[in-house]
Amino acid sequence: MRINLAKSAGFCFGVKRALKIAVNTAKTEKNVCMLGDIVHNEEVVKLITKSGIQKITLLSCGKSKTLLIRAHGACRKTFAKAKKLGYRIVDATCPMVKEIHKIVMEKEKLGFQIIILNSLHKIKKACVVAQSTQNFDKVKKVLKIIKAKIKNVKFFNTICRPTIIKQEEIKKMPLGNDVMIIIGSKNSANSKRLYEISRNLNKNSYWIGSENEIKKEWFNNAKSVGITAGASTPEPAIQAIINHIRNYSSKD
Ligand code: SF4
Repeated sequence: MRINLAKSAGFCFGVKRALKIAVNTAKTEKNVCMLGDIVHNEEVVKLITKSGIQKITLLSCGKSKTLLIRAHGACRKTFAKAKKLGYRIVDATCPMVKEIHKIVMEKEKLGFQIIILNSLHKIKKACVVAQSTQNFDKVKKVLKIIKAKIKNVKFFNTICRPTIIKQEEIKKMPLGNDVMIIIGSKNSANSKRLYEISRNLNKNSYWIGSENEIKKEWFNNAKSVGITAGASTPEPAIQAIINHIRNYSSKD
């Protein structure tokens, strides 16, 4: 059985950057915490926690503490609250997400209603941005509807480059492979979108987090398997799954 790994599988540059910042911060600072998960992957969160960064769900007194802001950013209120509570802030927000925030703030000042693919009542002029890992084809469809209802629409394609590349690949791979494996945590929205696109094109598509979830019967009569992985899936997880599939396909 041939195994075809997507070129874009796994970490995007925003995730790599956030993890580098996290590891450096853990080395140089004491009492480092992160609000929620740094990226949407359990293994990565475990590793980061091991490096000494504590995961918190609520902000408390921030005196002598450092707060790490995750790859997908935090709202203005969280930044303001953290500063007020005395945290030193280390911002690992992906530059692509920062870019979305910048567009929204600029256009809001100019009187635009901001639409993050949301409701459309009585709006005269609208600025539309998309969350950075949205399905581009769906965004185009929604934009068409918005344009039919609102006269003055400014659309900024804020879907990030790594997501576009992953989606381009996943529109082709399911057609050229008997089975498709999408690797990523169940709380990873971008992995979910890759799976949805793949499943629409090839019903033998499976979304898994680790090799333990693989079922041998998925590969019955399969000559080729395509593999891709979400932006927060670490390389060792991808390799473990490839080895697992390779191992038992060679035993047949
Ligand atoms: S998926 Fe895109 S926006 Fe999100 S961290 Fe990666 S590069 Fe940045």
